[in-house]
Amino acid sequence: MAERNTGELMEKIVSLCKRKGFIFQSSEMYGGLNGFWDYGPLGAELKRNIKETWWRSMTQLRDDVVGLEASIIMHPRIWEASGHTSTFSDLMVDCLLTKKRFRADQVEPQSGLAYGYTGAKNDVKESKDVFSVLLPPGKPPESARKVATQFYRERGIENPVLIGEQTEKVENSQRYNPENGSLLTEPRPFNLMLKTYVGPVESAENISYLRPETAQAIFVQFKNVMEVSRQKVPFGICQIGKAFRNEINPRNFTFRSREFEQMELEFFIRPDEAIEAIFGKVAKPATTGHPGEPQANWGWQMWHQYWVEERFAYYESIGLPRHTLVEYWQKGDELAHYARATVDILYKFPFSKRNEAGELMGEELEGVAARSDFDLSQHQRFSGKQTIVFDEELKGAWPKLDDGKKAELSLRFFEARQKYLLKTGEQPEKSSKQAREDADNLSKGYYVPHVIEPSAGVDRLALALLCNAYTEDQAPDEKGKLESRVVMRFHPRIAPVKVAVFPLLKNKPELVKKAKEVRDILRPHLSVDYDEAGAIGRRYRRQDEAGTPFGVTIDFDTLGENGEALKDTVTLRERDTMKQERVKVVDLLNALLGKMR
Ligand code: ATP
Repeated sequence: MAERNTGELMEKIVSLCKRKGFIFQSSEMYGGLNGFWDYGPLGAELKRNIKETWWRSMTQLRDDVVGLEASIIMHPRIWEASGHTSTFSDLMVDCLLTKKRFRADQVEPQSGLAYGYTGAKNDVKESKDVFSVLLPPGKPPESARKVATQFYRERGIENPVLIGEQTEKVENSQRYNPENGSLLTEPRPFNLMLKTYVGPVESAENISYLRPETAQAIFVQFKNVMEVSRQKVPFGICQIGKAFRNEINPRNFTFRSREFEQMELEFFIRPDEAIEAIFGKVAKPATTGHPGEPQANWGWQMWHQYWVEERFAYYESIGLPRHTLVEYWQKGDELAHYARATVDILYKFPFSKRNEAGELMGEELEGVAARSDFDLSQHQRFSGKQTIVFDEELKGAWPKLDDGKKAELSLRFFEARQKYLLKTGEQPEKSSKQAREDADNLSKGYYVPHVIEPSAGVDRLALALLCNAYTEDQAPDEKGKLESRVVMRFHPRIAPVKVAVFPLLKNKPELVKKAKEVRDILRPHLSVDYDEAGAIGRRYRRQDEAGTPFGVTIDFDTLGENGEALKDTVTLRERDTMKQERVKVVDLLNALLGKMR
């Protein structure tokens, strides 16, 4: 459906979200608050299901990952160590005329003729502020002068006479506001962390931040969690929780919000030098695709590939087909200095950019990053507390290496640690000394673990699932006439309501009583919606729009009015195929659970 990719489709999804109670604008009664959203009854269930499936697959179904739930506000030094205080910023620009703010890299490039002015004056006042206006080809100069006049008028010059008009051809420039042609300010960094004060005094020492990501809490609790869970590297810690970013330009519905939820795993692994010392060789990916069950001799590349593939498998398991996803490997200049590789998992949202062939390129759902030992090393340096681990196997293996191998591994480890320390601004002498100590520690079985980080957004995933589920098709009404319907084709695993139970008629107490009995059998195990209002066809339509995969109708057959064979059976209808089958009430729960797997 070509329409699936248009802005019109997105509008339909946004309006359905409001109409059905998936997502509302936050503070709507007060005109809304840009970048904040509330999830209504169906949206709240959808998000819970996303988080539950993620949590289950990431920790409950594994031996090597445990969970954490940390506080949102943490010690401000944590954000210095992580680099967020100094570098977590986007470049922003403001329109010189309207003051509207844009993210510098998101300004649509413009071409045309720029009309520049060195200032403006009237009988009493003069402004030397430089200003220019970009006009698209074919627009008369008068429109540029009109905008410039407005600019100088706002600087307090009544009836300004423009000074020094000059024109210049401009190609693909991001220096002008696409909405009015006005010049933008020079780009300047804007820190995205939301600030607050902890305690009664609003002083500089009391500044704290709402966390911009959940990951850092995992690093700072790494040692505690490792001890209490009796885990050994390789193992992971995962967390789901709110994060906050003062995004310059929230947009695309919930895609870029200022408050959102993340689902993050930090999976700690041995450095490759330790693997090589223990096993003689580091296993590296030989082919693409899932590398299978984890092995002790895997280096960071195998683990990275493993987590990328695990994450794709997760998305497919909740109903996002592989062809709707994109595996994007960040290029050298896009990678953070400490990252060895990052794969972004993109979903082809209707608002994604298109490539030259007209295909949707996708927008980020999740990043899977190989972050070296950067994070734990930073917290070790900033807190003064050790984040190294002791590896019995490494300690045992090292003395058995020949001198050449010992020297080779020590040197490689020394160089990596030195490079890290120099990058963080340590003096060369201190860096070498520290790196030598680190290499020495390695030979005794100690190191700072490396990490692979799959980091996903709950809200972006909810939006992807909503976009993916939205379909329009034709279904017969009561009289068999085809009418168009909207169906949210959610996978049963994440559908907000799993099954709807309907008595055929509301005014027949026996039907209502039986239907409520069926509802009560299912309710302890599945989210059930009981609905007796209106014609049965209308009730189906309501559930189709909510994305309920199964409908159960209790009719006169159920009551035994048409013979013993059908007594205590119900009609089970599937949303997608609209197929109906008769199922015994006693078998119903198992039949539904079977379809949900
Ligand atoms: P982007 O480049 O789109 O701003 P990012 O690379 O900064 O995202 P990360 O810091 O890697 O994002 O965060 C991990 C995940 O958290 C993202 O993949 C995304 O799903 C989610 N996320 C990040 N920022 C936002 C936001 N403003 N609104 C909703 N979800 C977000």
